[in-house]
Amino acid sequence: VVEIRDVTRSFPGPPEVQALKGINLTIEPGDYVGIVGPSGSGKSTMLNILGLLDRPTVGEYKLSGALTSNLSEDDRAAARARFIGFVFQSFHLMPRRTVLDNVLMPMLYSGVPRRERDDRAREALDRVGLSHRVDFLPGSLSGGERQRVAVARAVVSRPKLLLADEPTGNLDQRTSGEVMELFEELNADGLTLVIITHDQHVADRARRRIEIRDGRLTELA
Ligand code: ATP
Ligand code: MG
Repeated sequence: VVEIRDVTRSFPGPPEVQALKGINLTIEPGDYVGIVGPSGSGKSTMLNILGLLDRPTVGEYKLSGALTSNLSEDDRAAARARFIGFVFQSFHLMPRRTVLDNVLMPMLYSGVPRRERDDRAREALDRVGLSHRVDFLPGSLSGGERQRVAVARAVVSRPKLLLADEPTGNLDQRTSGEVMELFEELNADGLTLVIITHDQHVADRARRRIEIRDGRLTELA
């Protein structure tokens, strides 16, 4: 699904920061990739490029065979909505909307009919074990439940690629394990997973491990 060739990303200064320094990476459909590395090494920068939230300064990124540098911002947004789901450390839920509304949100502008949106959101919440929480506000849920809402929202549009940046960073060990199990069920159903983590337990579960250090990538055994 994903091919990155000689990608660099510099942030203009001063001082200029070279966050990525010539990255090569191929991710196959159904892969389960863990990304580790020190703080400030370029992990989130790389995930943002994979997620079409950012562009390389130099190099190419092919998603499903298509060169993304040729796409307009609109086409990039459409590709993002169609192919990619995101999960973040701090959940990023809308606090004044119910759990159901939060999960419906990604489908609002994607032409899914209203009735089907509702069905799909409920199905996604059922999938993450939160059918009994649809009408709650995020603030009344536990951290693990909030992250499961975020996972439901990330997969409701049936993406091919799920990108998670420290998804268990705010969770305790047990809850983190539950969220990882959920990711792994989705992966077993064919979803490609890329997870940034500082947690060795989480990294050890991935089928492939990649380390980013000072903007350079190494595949770990
Ligand atoms: P952490 O584990 O702390 O999240 P990270 O590996 O995700 O770290 P990045 O966020 O990718 O690190 O940052 C890599 C480098 O690029 C850092 O030096 C950071 O300061 C710099 N950087 C990231 N985003 C920007 C930006 N928008 N403008 C300027 N510099 C940036
Ligand atoms: Mg980061």
